Amino acid sequence: MDTLNPDVPDDVFADVLKQISQFVRSRVVPRELEIMNNDSIPDDLRQQSAEMGLFGYAIPQEWGGLGLNLIQDVEVAMELGYTSLSLRSMFGTNNGIAGQVLVGFGTEDQKATWLPGMATGDIVASFALTEDGAGSNPAGLRTTAKVDGTGWVINGSKRYITNAPIANMFVVFAKLDPKPESGNGIAVFLVPSDTAGIEVGVKDAKMGQQGSGTADVNFTDVRVEADALVGGNGDAGVEPAERPMIDIGYKAAMTSLARGRVHIAALAVGQAQRALDESVAHAASSTQGGEPIGNFQLVQAMIADQQVGVMAGRAMVREAARAWVQETDRRIAPSAVKLFCTEMVGQVADLAVQIHGGAGYMREVPVERIYRDVRLLRLYEGTSEIQRLIVGGGLIRAEQKRTS
Ligand SMILES: Cc1cc2nc3c(=O)[nH]c(=O)nc-3n(C[C@H](O)[C@H](O)[C@H](O)COP(=O)(O)OP(=O)(O)OC[C@H]3O[C@@H](n4cnc5c(N)ncnc54)[C@H](O)[C@@H]3O)c2cc1C
Repeated sequence: MDTLNPDVPDDVFADVLKQISQFVRSRVVPRELEIMNNDSIPDDLRQQSAEMGLFGYAIPQEWGGLGLNLIQDVEVAMELGYTSLSLRSMFGTNNGIAGQVLVGFGTEDQKATWLPGMATGDIVASFALTEDGAGSNPAGLRTTAKVDGTGWVINGSKRYITNAPIANMFVVFAKLDPKPESGNGIAVFLVPSDTAGIEVGVKDAKMGQQGSGTADVNFTDVRVEADALVGGNGDAGVEPAERPMIDIGYKAAMTSLARGRVHIAALAVGQAQRALDESVAHAASSTQGGEPIGNFQLVQAMIADQQVGVMAGRAMVREAARAWVQETDRRIAPSAVKLFCTEMVGQVADLAVQIHGGAGYMREVPVERIYRDVRLLRLYEGTSEIQRLIVGGGLIRAEQKRTS
């Protein structure tokens, strides 16, 4: 495998991946029920994850992370996807949607302030974009950041924010007030969770992914200083009216989400592989009338469909990650691969329940949990419909531009 990353050569990466795989399969898989029933990740697994660098695998080495690029990230994600998805969720926001906003758009000072702590896991960052009425279309944001002296005052409500109950910092998207003369006016701020005026709601009761928490986050007159604005906007000593208004929030969100979509697709492949393995093991040993059900050709057909999905997904994930790193496609491929792999894992999980018969409907059987856990993958970081719009619309617009 040529991972195209001079910071983490292939032989070093092979060792990292092996350790992660061993950790997942020998330490986490045996504790999946404990995670699900307690709706939390045990402290010792959190500690081991931190020691292995998992809170910062996608954060550059300069800032204390492992410095994996997306080609390597997806290999890690396919391993992490083999177990309860909530484990990955614990450090997913640091490496992914929240962390990549800082990595890609933060000032040097902002990176130095936040990234080292995020890489060790001492800081958990949450990505706070979604609101009531602004999920699929972030342009509908109603949270505002009003200029006030040298800083801003943020007001608004976010919902379904992953890791909000344990967050130390929120990456908050808000509309600038006054709105800049050009651009869409969406900016993004780094707001410590203990800032006055922040209220995190009760943990949401979710369909699946027990062990990871989401909640509403309300901002009431939350005051932040100039250094909280991602990308910075010049000298805080200068009157706000004379400072440039930095509304890179929309671009930062879209870039971070696009990268995250390739990662989510890889998680889906990991879960699909697990569902397949559980199905094969069950079909090979469970009997009806003395005959293993795996000897029945209709059961073999379901397993064949699962295998085809896993192989196609894995190949597509690797191609999309390569296109991202080589910067040949950072828009169509991420949406196409998320669409395919998250729909694929839904079908594979459904077949897994079918292959298990009545047992597949019982709590505490892994495929029952997988069936619920993977449902989220088609919803967050852009629904399947939004991915279709990006792929279809993007191709049409490119052709119209080419022929105009
Ligand atoms: C467990 C969980 C964790 C989450 N974590 C985070 C997080 O950490 N940070 C964060 O900011 N958000 C997070 N979200 C929010 C998530 O990204 C949104 O729920 C998702 O983007 C969908 O937005 P919505 O819920 O407002 O649904 P809507 O946008 O209202 O969608 C409802 C339906 O309408 C369809 N639809 C909407 N617009 C269009 C259109 N233009 N064309 C066609 N169909 C359309 C959708 O595809 C969907 O089928 C999380 C959500 C969940 C459930």
